[in-house]
Amino acid sequence: MTELPKPKALRAGRDLDRRTKAVHAGIRRSQYGEVSEAMFLTQGFVYESAEAAEQRFLKAGVDEFIYARYGNPTVRMFEERMAALEGAEDAFATASGMAAVNGALVSMLKAGDHVVSSRALFGSCLYILEEILPRFGVEVTFVDGTDLDQWRDAVRPDTRAVFFESVANPTLEVIDIEAVSAVAREVGAKVIVDNVFATPVFSNAIRQGADVVVYSATKHIDGQGRALGGIILGTKEFIRKTVEPYLKHTGGSLSPFTAWLLLKGLETMDLRVRAQCHGAKALARALEEHPKLSRVLYPGLESHPQHELTRRQTGEAGTVLAIDCGSKAAAFALLNALEIWTISNNLGDAKSIATHPATTTHQRLGEEQRAALGITEGLVRLSVGLEAPEDLLADLVAALEGV
Ligand SMILES: *Cc1c(COP(=O)(O)O)cnc(C)c1O
Repeated sequence: MTELPKPKALRAGRDLDRRTKAVHAGIRRSQYGEVSEAMFLTQGFVYESAEAAEQRFLKAGVDEFIYARYGNPTVRMFEERMAALEGAEDAFATASGMAAVNGALVSMLKAGDHVVSSRALFGSCLYILEEILPRFGVEVTFVDGTDLDQWRDAVRPDTRAVFFESVANPTLEVIDIEAVSAVAREVGAKVIVDNVFATPVFSNAIRQGADVVVYSATKHIDGQGRALGGIILGTKEFIRKTVEPYLKHTGGSLSPFTAWLLLKGLETMDLRVRAQCHGAKALARALEEHPKLSRVLYPGLESHPQHELTRRQTGEAGTVLAIDCGSKAAAFALLNALEIWTISNNLGDAKSIATHPATTTHQRLGEEQRAALGITEGLVRLSVGLEAPEDLLADLVAALEGV
């Protein structure tokens, strides 16, 4: 591909603000010099000669591609843009957030290894750690991620990785990345952080000690409910030597069409996420004293146990809050009375979404495990979208009247 004009500041490697990188980083232009990122909907690439094919399989250059499962120019743009945003050396894009979580863990682990994980996890993450890894001889110890002593007690000389969601879904507990990373470093374990709730807008995870950061791009990166995607970010060594061989041969790669959607999503992510955060904070404050609610969980509230940590770790507290209506009947009455909020199970979307985790996303866990995690029958997760916060609040308050 011909080297066509990129913003000069990017070529010079200047340290630019995240908002600037979100619009420009990673751009690759074809010979036509298009402004918008091109969508390379191609499974493969042609070679000028048999010798050129042989050479490319031997060692592909930066802008040389072989097969879309291995890499594709549109996907590469998304990976490089995300790496620039996160401050990571490199990235590998995946077909979904779960392909990223699975890829990050399975690519580096083998039978006999030990992993320590926080217990408060998204249902599918828990399935990988609780069901799949042990099936292949990996021992997993679960801890309460907010209790540093439990991490200290659980790590061992053979601990290869620690895994946690920096903000737990749906209970919004916040885990101290810096402190857990220090514990992991003492035994030489890699720190893998599922950073969905923190969002790439507010993340400082790598600077705070994480070795590997994983996102479901389905959430805030697309943010418009159009596609599934994911990404693994880390050192060049980890991404190219450990993650890439696993994913390119097992088929979890991202489609170029989705990569293009996600590139477009990144251009507006900062604006969307900040507006959604502002809405979430306003709703949490307005609902905190509501007589029909026994709990309002939002790390941006001073009543939240990790409020100070959140200010230090991400500054902002994200786009999701959770409220407890006291019972399943009350939660269902609330959901069914909402007129603007959508009953669904995505988050980070432009549309505000209400979810009842106990009967949907966390149904599989069973009653006992849910109780241990604080996922009560009355808990409703609220993902705040881009509608006017006043309308969203009025809708919730009116629905709560009938509860
Ligand atoms: C949604 C989510 C995932 C999975 O992402 P998909 O894109 O749906 O596969 C993983 N971890 C967390 C914390 C999530 O919220």
